[in-house]
Amino acid sequence: MHSRSMRLRSIKPTIRQIDARVVKPKPKTADAFYLSPEWRSLMHRLIAERGRRCEEVGCGRVNTRIFGDHIVELKDGGPLLDPSNIKLLCGSCHTTKTLAQRARRMAERF
Ligand SMILES: [Zn+2]
Repeated sequence: MHSRSMRLRSIKPTIRQIDARVVKPKPKTADAFYLSPEWRSLMHRLIAERGRRCEEVGCGRVNTRIFGDHIVELKDGGPLLDPSNIKLLCGSCHTTKTLAQRARRMAERF
C-alpha cells in the first residue's frame, strides 16, 4: 500500500510536464478568419447588395442562412475579401460544396 502511493506520486510530475509541452497556442486557421469583423461586415454588405439568396445554379433558395463561399479557395490562394471571389450559398449547398472539396483534396493526396 505504502509503496504504491509512493510510485503514483513520482509519476505525476512527469505527466504534467508532457501535458505542458503538448498544449500549444492555437494556430491561426481559416476558421479564425471567418469570425473576423472584416469578413462579417463584408458578408453583411454582400447579402444587402445581392439579397439573402443562394447563388448556386439551380438552387436560388431565399430567406435562409447564407454562407460566404470562396470560389477560389483560400488554400489555393484565392483573395479573402474580394466580392468577386465570394459566392453566397445556402447551408445545404455550402455543405455539399465543402464535402466535394474535401473529397477532391483527399483524392489529390494519393
Ligand atoms: Zn443553395
